[in-house]
This record gives sequence, C-alpha cells and structure tokens, in this order.
Amino acid sequence: MAANNRAREKSFVFNFLDRNAVAVATIGDSIFYFGELGMQEVESAKLMTETLENEGFSVERGISGFPTGFCASYGSGDPVIALHTEYDANPNNSQVSGETEQKNITPYGPGHCEGHNCNAAVMVSGAIAAKCAIKKFGLKGTLKVFGAPGEEQLISRPYYVRDGWFDDVDVAIHDHIGGDMGTVYGLTHSAAVSAYFTFHGETAHASTAPWRARDALDGVVLMDMGMAQFREHMEPEMRAHRVIKDGGDQPNTIPARATVWWTFRAPTAEGARIVFEQGKKIAEGAALMSNTEVEIEVMSAVWPVRTNQGLAEVIQNNLELVGVPEWTVDEQAFARKLQEAANVHAEGLRTEIKPLLGPTEQRTPSNDCGDVSWKVPMGRVGFPSNVPNVPFHHWAGGAALATTIAHKGSVAGAKALAGAVVDLLSDPTLVQRAKKTFAEEIGEVIYKPLIPERQKPPVDLNREMMETFRQPMSAHYIQEKPRFN
Ligand SMILES: [Zn+2]
Repeated sequence: MAANNRAREKSFVFNFLDRNAVAVATIGDSIFYFGELGMQEVESAKLMTETLENEGFSVERGISGFPTGFCASYGSGDPVIALHTEYDANPNNSQVSGETEQKNITPYGPGHCEGHNCNAAVMVSGAIAAKCAIKKFGLKGTLKVFGAPGEEQLISRPYYVRDGWFDDVDVAIHDHIGGDMGTVYGLTHSAAVSAYFTFHGETAHASTAPWRARDALDGVVLMDMGMAQFREHMEPEMRAHRVIKDGGDQPNTIPARATVWWTFRAPTAEGARIVFEQGKKIAEGAALMSNTEVEIEVMSAVWPVRTNQGLAEVIQNNLELVGVPEWTVDEQAFARKLQEAANVHAEGLRTEIKPLLGPTEQRTPSNDCGDVSWKVPMGRVGFPSNVPNVPFHHWAGGAALATTIAHKGSVAGAKALAGAVVDLLSDPTLVQRAKKTFAEEIGEVIYKPLIPERQKPPVDLNREMMETFRQPMSAHYIQEKPRFN
C-alpha cells in the first residue's frame, strides 16, 4: 500500500539507477581493485567522498579522528536518515574476479573477499538516487551518509556513536552484500572486544645466559594456555581467538617484547565484557608467572547488531518492488562452477526474494555497526552481489565481486535502499513505527559504549602491509570515474 502511494517517486529512483548502472559498477569495481585494508582505505574514501560531493552532498572528512571516515549530508530538517557502510578488504585474499579457481591479482596481496566494495557502491549510488528524488519531489528531511573504516577489525562506528554523530539521527540503514536479496530483524550478530596484550620483559643470550632473561614470549604462551583452560567454562556462544603479532626477533635473543591480539565475543555486550575481564586476569597471571609486565590496549569493542522490525518491513516492501535481478545462463553457470570449486551446495544464483520471517537467529560474527543499532532503529538492505554459499574471507568469496553478478546485485540493492529512503522521507508514520518497535525491542537495556571514553582510533593499523602492496596493486586501478546523470 505504502509503496503504491509513491509509484511516481519509486519509478523515478529505479529509472535513475538503471540509467546509471555503469556508474554504480564503476564505484564497486574501483574499490575492488583498490583492495584497501581497514584504516588505510585512502583511495576508496576519496572516490566515495568526491562522488558524493560532485552530486551536491556536503562532506566532512576525517570524522572522530578517522582519516578514511566521513559524513556526507544533503537536505535539511526532519527526519534525519543515516546510511552507513564499510569498504575495507582483507589480507592475503587478492583474487582475480571472474575466475572459478584461486588466482591472485597481486601475490599475497590484500583484496576483497566478501564484497565491501559493493556495499560502498550500493550506499553511494542509493544515496545519490534518493538525493535526486528529494530535489525533484521536494521531499523534506536530511540524508547523512557515513563511511565507516576498518569494519574487519570492528573499529569505527562505536566512535561515531560515542562522539555524537548519531545524536540527531532518527533512523539508520546499513547495506551488506550476500547471496540473498532480503532483510531480517532481531539480534543478528554478536558483541566483541578485541585487544592487544603486550608483555614486557628483558632480553638475554638464549644460549649463554638464559637465566638472566624475563621472557615476554613466555607471557604470550602462558596466556594462551590459560585461555585454553578457560574455554571449557565459557558459555557455548562465547568465542575467543587470537594471533601472535610479535613473538620476538631471533631464537638466540630471548624477546623483551611480545604481543598477542585477542578477540572475545559473546551474544551480549555484558557477556563480551565478562570474557574480556577474564582474559585480563589470565594475562596478569601469565605476567606473574613469567616475571614480565603486561600492557593491554583495546583495539575495538562493539555491541551485538540488532535490526529493527519497523525498518525491516519498509525495506522488505522495497526489495519486493525491485525484485531479484534476471540472471543470464552464463551467470548461473559461473555461480555453479564457483560453488563446486568451493565445495559448497551448487544451487546457482537465487531467483527469489528471501521472505521476511519472524525474529532471526543470532550468529557469532560481529560488525561494528552494532553500536548504531542500539542508539537508533537500524535496518539492513541485503543485496545479491555475491554467489550464495561461498565462504567469505576465502578466494571464492572474491571471485564474483567485479562481475556482472556484482553489478546487477548492486543496482538492485541501491534501488531498494533509495526506495526505502523515499518511503521514510514521505511518510512520518513509518519513522514513528520504527521508533515504537525499537523501544519495545531494546526494552530496559541502556546503551553505553564498550570502548573506553578517551580511546583514540588505531590510525596506523595495517599501514605497513598496505604500503608494501599499494604500488603493485596500483597497476590494476580503474582509471574511469563514476559519472551520474
Ligand atoms: Zn562484511
């Protein structure tokens, strides 16, 4: 019913995006080849902000101390609708797009292996389409488009919320790639705290005078053993996983410094805090046993993600209005071949919208948009730019990301996003319903950021690795710029 009331506006934004399908694809493909790691998304952020600026958005760069973060606004007054998404890649996942076997673009280089490049294309082009509708039909309200760096390390959005960027926002929409076109509501992701544990000791010659040393690596190893014992007593949905960032330099010098990076997860913010507190105790015990000192640096801390029922209904209406892209025989064949190569159910591409069922099941991954989702009602547009069932953070997850599957999925996602924005700007009762269902959903819970009050963003994260690969990767950059008309 709501959708039919705005048939004129909807066909305008849908036509706009069909007409600009090349520009949508150019954004996604450009960011795919930039393949930038979290906190180092320099070229990706530049492309997105310049594109939005060319379309009349006013852009604030470097928000909350994030060099690759931004807020682009358009319009004025209420309601204030925030769109936000991520655009970072992962290490060691450089995959040639369109190939159904593992093949690097840049050997050992970073690359997109999930599809955050398409997330960016959908957000930017959906926002531009919505802006054109605001202008053409005189819609009232403000669009705020947030670029969120470092999602793979769960970093930026808790800072944005802590620093007040969402204080005047009425509703927010996140967009994320997948094998499905659909949306959900309820708790979807887990809370997480991740931190560096750096042990400090004293060096010694490992062969001539090992008794003189205080071995920092012993601290790391003992913490690992303590966490392994603790695992038995964690609740089933809790998780703890780690990598050793610094284990010393050479065997004949006992290391004076060693760092282990742990991520702790739980279904609730309080649960993640409890696992972290236990991790801290274990680290202190390990330091005591190894005669070292431990320094703990929080890297990220996020609430679980929840999506709102009122917004899910608005988004679902629009997804159904847009419909799943029409896949060609070749696209279906590519998808099945890739699924076979990845050893997953070879069903091809899906041809139907995922129905909106009751509250969804909460899963163990996290996303740093969790904090947004407890501050304001948040919805998610899921769009089909990747092949169903392929594992993310694996070469197969990157194989479709600059193909026509990605391009068509992104146009469909941008249409649904722009359509939802048009609905929310036109019908105040939809925003009211989102707020009412949100109040019921969060109940008595009082949101308070998990990140420490004075915490500053880790701006050097991934810098070295990105600098190593940027030059060989730049040979593959797309020269063409996205142009909308
Ligand atoms: Zn993601």
